[in-house]
Amino acid sequence: MIVVMKPGATAAQIGNVIARAEQMGCQTHPIYGDNRTVVALVGDLTNVSREVFGALDGVLHTVRIQEPYKLSSRATRPEDTVIEVAGGAVQIGGPEIIVMAGPCSVESREGIVEIAHAVKEAGAKVLRGGAFKPRTSPYDFQGHGLKGLEYLAEAREATGLPVITEVMTVETLPMVAEYTDILQIGARNMQNYGLLQAVGKINKPVMLKRGMSGTIKEWLMCAEYIVSSGNKNVMLCERGIRTYETATRNTFDLNAVPFVKQTSHLPVIADPSHGTGLRELVPAMAKASIAAGADALILEVHPDPDNAISDGRQSLTLEMFAQLMHDLRRVATAVDRFVGEAPVEIAVDELMPA
Ligand code: PEP
Ligand code: MN
Repeated sequence: MIVVMKPGATAAQIGNVIARAEQMGCQTHPIYGDNRTVVALVGDLTNVSREVFGALDGVLHTVRIQEPYKLSSRATRPEDTVIEVAGGAVQIGGPEIIVMAGPCSVESREGIVEIAHAVKEAGAKVLRGGAFKPRTSPYDFQGHGLKGLEYLAEAREATGLPVITEVMTVETLPMVAEYTDILQIGARNMQNYGLLQAVGKINKPVMLKRGMSGTIKEWLMCAEYIVSSGNKNVMLCERGIRTYETATRNTFDLNAVPFVKQTSHLPVIADPSHGTGLRELVPAMAKASIAAGADALILEVHPDPDNAISDGRQSLTLEMFAQLMHDLRRVATAVDRFVGEAPVEIAVDELMPA
């Protein structure tokens, strides 16, 4: 249930709602929006009456949330959530479409610094790169671990780009959180509830990838684990699901982008690299994702994809990436958004002779 406070409700009135709800044994999550404050009540609501809360001072009305994902639901918060990365240097979920780019794995110090400069030059706002890699085979490269995190930190230092990297275990979370600006939960860990609760207690944005066999509802329930543990800065990343189709690595579920945007207030990110597995399909699906309403893209880029340690087949060359950034600007304009510099609004009277 959400308790919608009247505009201008006082802190004491909000505090009273919280105290009453906690006395009745439910968890409370106040959500402060631009136009209104709501208090979401979750947990066991059997003893909670809407009439009692509706009559409290400062309360406008109460609403029962039908969806099982209460805190992530748009019914709880009608406005889009905008997530501030690196102290607000980058905002995800606002009018700017953010492009995160970089290699699948951090391969070497020189390599990641070179890629960071190149993707920044083309307009990327966040550098991606895996230091801990979830590989299908235990004999494949597992990532450079701490060294990889240090190389990422050097690339951030050299370019000023915030970084996103995957955290695979609760044990390595403190280490990864120290180095990264966004914590990535990979598809294989979508339902690792212990890890979700642990990142829920950290004050850092989290990008939750959809599991390869996760339904949209299961994925939103996983976001709910993080948000209900205390971290509201969650973004949902569609990266393709496993179907009977084998022509592409995964089936990129573009439906999920507008579906999740409509059902949840959390930002949606598209990963057409893993979604397709084929670099020649990535530009089309990246453009389609923006047209469908994605707030950000995460793209694998490598200067020599054929010799990349992991995911080379789906990695764009630097040239392909620069061309795509150019094309994305045009698609973004068509949906009233932008990539890179904000369009300058010129007032009509400024164009008139004095
Ligand atoms: C990755 O981003 O390189 C990755 C391993 O992604 P996913 O978890 O979507 O497979
Ligand atoms: Mn990859």
